Amino acid sequence: MKTVAVLGGGPAGAVAARQVAAAGVRTVLFDEKLAWEKPCGGGVTFKAYQQYPFLLESGLYRRVTNTCLHTREAGAARLQLDKPMLIFSRRDLNQLLLDRASEAGAELRQTRVLGIERSGGRWIVRTSSEEVAADFAIVATGARNPLRSTGTRFAAGDSMTALGYFVPDAQEHIDIEFFRQFEGYVWVFPRADHLSVGICGKGEPAPAMRARLERYMEKRGLRREGATFYGHMLPSLEAGTWRSNRLAGEGWLAVGDAGGLVDPVTGEGIYYAMRSGELAGDLVAAETPGDYTAAINREFGGDLAYASTLARRLFLGRYLFDSNTARLIQFLRRSPRLHSIVQELFAGTMPYLDLRKQIKDSLHLTLTEIGVNVFLRRMVSEG
Ligand SMILES: Cc1cc2nc3c(=O)[nH]c(=O)nc-3n(C[C@H](O)[C@H](O)[C@H](O)COP(=O)(O)OP(=O)(O)OC[C@H]3O[C@@H](n4cnc5c(N)ncnc54)[C@H](O)[C@@H]3O)c2cc1C
Repeated sequence: MKTVAVLGGGPAGAVAARQVAAAGVRTVLFDEKLAWEKPCGGGVTFKAYQQYPFLLESGLYRRVTNTCLHTREAGAARLQLDKPMLIFSRRDLNQLLLDRASEAGAELRQTRVLGIERSGGRWIVRTSSEEVAADFAIVATGARNPLRSTGTRFAAGDSMTALGYFVPDAQEHIDIEFFRQFEGYVWVFPRADHLSVGICGKGEPAPAMRARLERYMEKRGLRREGATFYGHMLPSLEAGTWRSNRLAGEGWLAVGDAGGLVDPVTGEGIYYAMRSGELAGDLVAAETPGDYTAAINREFGGDLAYASTLARRLFLGRYLFDSNTARLIQFLRRSPRLHSIVQELFAGTMPYLDLRKQIKDSLHLTLTEIGVNVFLRRMVSEG
């Protein structure tokens, strides 16, 4: 490979560029904004900072050890996070990753990519200011990838709406609220100097979701005055799209959101962006890009595809005559076993395929635990 063009400089593109440049290949990364405050919660799981310890070492985050899960019907359950979550401002996180790409030798260009054309087995990358020839393209332009001939073909139902406010306020813990018959949730994530308050979900128009979020904020006393509104698309592929997901083509690979690589249950995308960027960068540098799709599917694609079949059942399904989410909260208050399973989910360390087995294997013991604790009037975690 003589020159690799990386289109987009979010977590996926920045990590991919670093890997290619570190292998001694000329790497040019294009991003119209470079480091910016991308609409995002900024939550980085234990799984992510275990894989990338420099995230933890950066100190650029708020470390959160407590979460409170709510539904209106079931009240609240507190969850102690043994493996804390780190909440970053996206400007800081993107800058950190772009600095690492630059230190490895990648050339960073702040410019908008207008198109890419294939000519004589190479790419011509057309930007607002120049044309650059490249032998390979790594497409990292995010969920709204404008380069339509590359990356995931998003069909209706393959994305969640995600919107929210950066609120000039402070709190120590994360709040998550579920709603009856709503496939999604509201979050409050404390960042270093403000709160990221948002909602993500499917099956409801954006204005209705915004109104739902604003009602929540009013109820919680979270003021919109002085807050900045944000909205974006969040990939959440349906099972059928996972099966035919277009991650690679002649002379290109798609990474991160451009490849739909987001957890369809939690909306976690930063880890998958970084990891897919790393895999793509290494394989392109080794001139074996043909191994990329199999590597993604082996490592987490299969699990995320399975998760896509769970999401709707989890948010909209019922168990023992009540909603799953209300049951989750009621059971969390009584069952140490369920408590540790949900902790693993927040840490990102339990594959969904194992979750099914864990819940199945421990259902009897969990229900016994709940029965005993109800009888003894004992709570594991109170709201
Ligand atoms: C509201 C919301 C909340 C979220 N919360 C979380 C969370 O708490 N934790 C988590 O893990 N994930 C979260 N996600 C998902 C996460 O934000 C994404 O999965 C992640 O940013 C994907 O990284 P990426 O590099 O693939 O894409 P992006 O971060 O979107 O980066 C794409 C880059 O490409 C650039 N670009 C696009 N088009 C062009 C062009 N034509 N020319 C030049 N540059 C271009 C953009 O400027 C951008 O910098 C959230 C998403 C949303 C929408």
